[in-house]
Amino acid sequence: MPIDMTDPTTITGEMPIGARRVRGEAGCFRALDPATGAMLEPAFGCATEADVARACESAHAAFDAYRRTPPGIRATFLETIAANMLALGDVLIERACAETGLPRARIESERGRTVAQLRLFAARAREGDGIDARIDGALPERKPLPRVDIRMQRIPLGPVAVFGASNFPLAFSVAGGDTASALAAGCPVVVKAHAAHPGISELVGRAVQAAVLANGLPEGVFSLLFDDGFAAGAALVAHPAIKAVGFTGSRRGGVALMKIAAARAEPIPVYAEMSSVNPVFLLPAALAARGKALATGFVESLTLGVGQLCTNPGVVLAVAGVAFEQFKDTAAALLAARHAGVMLTPGIAAAYASGVERLHEHPAVRAAGRGEAEGAAAGSRAQAALYAVDADALLADASLGEEVFGPCSLLVACRDLAQMREVAERLEGQLTATLHFDAADHDAAQTLLPVLERKAGRIVGNGWPTGVEVCDAMVHGGPFPATSDGRSTSVGTAAIERFLRPVCYQNLPQRLLPDALHDANPLGLPRRVDGVPTQAPIK
Ligand code: NAP
Repeated sequence: MPIDMTDPTTITGEMPIGARRVRGEAGCFRALDPATGAMLEPAFGCATEADVARACESAHAAFDAYRRTPPGIRATFLETIAANMLALGDVLIERACAETGLPRARIESERGRTVAQLRLFAARAREGDGIDARIDGALPERKPLPRVDIRMQRIPLGPVAVFGASNFPLAFSVAGGDTASALAAGCPVVVKAHAAHPGISELVGRAVQAAVLANGLPEGVFSLLFDDGFAAGAALVAHPAIKAVGFTGSRRGGVALMKIAAARAEPIPVYAEMSSVNPVFLLPAALAARGKALATGFVESLTLGVGQLCTNPGVVLAVAGVAFEQFKDTAAALLAARHAGVMLTPGIAAAYASGVERLHEHPAVRAAGRGEAEGAAAGSRAQAALYAVDADALLADASLGEEVFGPCSLLVACRDLAQMREVAERLEGQLTATLHFDAADHDAAQTLLPVLERKAGRIVGNGWPTGVEVCDAMVHGGPFPATSDGRSTSVGTAAIERFLRPVCYQNLPQRLLPDALHDANPLGLPRRVDGVPTQAPIK
């Protein structure tokens, strides 16, 4: 079928691949409403290997033209995607609620965040963010050897494979942060939709497809693939046209994709955001002064989105004593009133139940609190859980520090501040580390900070890790296993840098140089010329 003339709000089960709509023929699946267990229409066709190849080859064919589009065109393209998403109106919101079980208010705010994110990346694309133009002019008179003209810019890597996340059906999915940053960098994108929400993936995918065509861009700039198994995703990462991968999901899934990428004839970078327990350190003076308020904030953060946030506070550490006991009792009492919430998929609910069971059965772990049990036995609902353990046991068995995805947290009682630091030293890489402190805790915080800088991508002071602002200074990353590459971020405008690489032009005449490096600076970029930051043309 040529250009897609379907009403943009009708879900067809077909994949937008380039300018076409394609029905995958490698089997089919339906979405499930996790709140009711009902299957949702229509059926979605799974991508065949030929569909994957067509999407990747089309992305490759589009790459050279797309990467040369002026920054302003790329920015308008991202803004058109945002406008097209908004134009989907209630159809998108209602389908998202049905496919995820998330409440309407949460989906609406996530749409707002996704649209704002696209616009922010548009603004940075317009400014040429990430191009990082540098010019070191020729020094023909230099002794003992002259220097030729040397110039550098960053160029996009090539087509990027993006895997939609289950827990952010809009903000980390088809037109989410990975896609927006890759498109802003100048990379075509092929998305593998998450099997839990194919309907909204199709709606948003067609919104992106329409934006590609409306802005006169090559059709291969964007494609979307469906599959409810791993074949299409694996083939996508293995395809030679793909030059980088963006992923948010499980450690097992992320590591599997890293292995496929590393085993290729040409290995490629994988930016996978995987697992994190986001340790929270309650320092003594803060805990003594405001334990009750801290317990309230903790329970709010723990149960937000039924705990299905990558920044969920999964481990809380404090020095053992009366204040920590009171914190535990207050948190347990608050948690007891929390309803069992609908989880995103039966698989995630089952993984949560077995993670809680693992803690429950551990001989060193004490049950400290549960949420309301009502409804928890039915389908995909999760009953919140709080456990307690001594730091000695955690130090003896690192598996206690593994993520249980959902509203479950482990309170860790440390002998003293030195043991708290020892636990921090032994933690795996984290997306966040949080410190609660008063003025009297500053010395203790200062002792922990160098350790936390090595462990986490974001250090939070007197707040909670959930809620990730999309801005220039945000880092949503961290050492393995928080991510596969701790040098980058998947949220915030620095995410663009993941999809660029530097190219140096030595001794090329003006005519052969890219626009970013012409003496006249026709793009008006900020550049470093002979060591000096400037936007001025070279005379
Ligand atoms: P997932 O199983 O890792 O799946 C994420 C995406 O990757 C899906 O599109 C999935 O395909 C694909 N995939 C997974 N393994 C693959 C493989 N071996 N080869 C090719 N493709 C693969 O994550 P999920 O479904 O969202 O949730 C499962 C668990 O992930 C949760 O219980 C939780 O522990 C964790 N999780 C973590 C975060 C986080 O932010 N850190 C977020 C969400 C989930 P299909 O759609 O076909 O399955």
